[in-house]
Amino acid sequence: MGPPAKRRCVLVLGGSFDPVHQGHIALAACFRRLLEPDELRILPAGNPWQKTRGLKASAQDRVEMARRAFAAASMPVVIDEQEIRRTSISGEASYTLDTLRLLRDELGPDTSIAFLMGADQLQGLHTWHNWQQLFDYAHICVASRPGFTLNMADLPPAVSAEFGKRIGTPEQIRNSAHGLTCLASDLAVDISATEVRYALQHGGQPNSLIPAVVLDYIQQHHLYKN
Ligand code: ATP
Repeated sequence: MGPPAKRRCVLVLGGSFDPVHQGHIALAACFRRLLEPDELRILPAGNPWQKTRGLKASAQDRVEMARRAFAAASMPVVIDEQEIRRTSISGEASYTLDTLRLLRDELGPDTSIAFLMGADQLQGLHTWHNWQQLFDYAHICVASRPGFTLNMADLPPAVSAEFGKRIGTPEQIRNSAHGLTCLASDLAVDISATEVRYALQHGGQPNSLIPAVVLDYIQQHHLYKN
């Protein structure tokens, strides 16, 4: 008998991607280096919970931009439209917990599922729908982001308590299905989609903020002009 088969590992990155930018790409690349996953699963939001403003680009444009942006990633990438489909059927926001439950059904009990987020999201994690149950389905891996703390003492107490007791090494995350946390504090990409949209609305060419293929798409489809 040969060595045991390596556990499958899937990185999950959800977001508005309105539009996708270098911060998203760097976040995925950071955990690709740490976890050497078998797949990156990109989940564009249909109607994202807690975003008070509407999204500027259509779901289909956001999907197409994500497809182009991640085509060059050095790992297999799946652009998963399940949240968009659910929202268009129900008209209601879809929760990350529902998404992770469905992903767990799809990927099976053994796959290591690592849900990625930036430090800004960690600060509000305790306000997510049934947030503690997220750990029943996935690991949560957080990367630093300029302007947002990763310091446990500065996070909401409920988040730091839950997060702190679950800290795992990349190897432990790679070798278990769910329930652990991981902080990558060396990411420092000061880019947001808000900043990209602002630049585009004001006639800027945000070449250093988004991949050239995404800028081409935006220009061809006249997105973010107003
Ligand atoms: P907006 O400016 O419209 O609020 P955003 O730039 O935060 O958007 P999202 O699509 O909402 O982008 O983010 C998706 C995920 O990527 C979130 O988990 C977010 O924390 C993370 N992320 C976005 N930008 C960065 C960045 N520069 N560094 C680290 N993580 C990031």
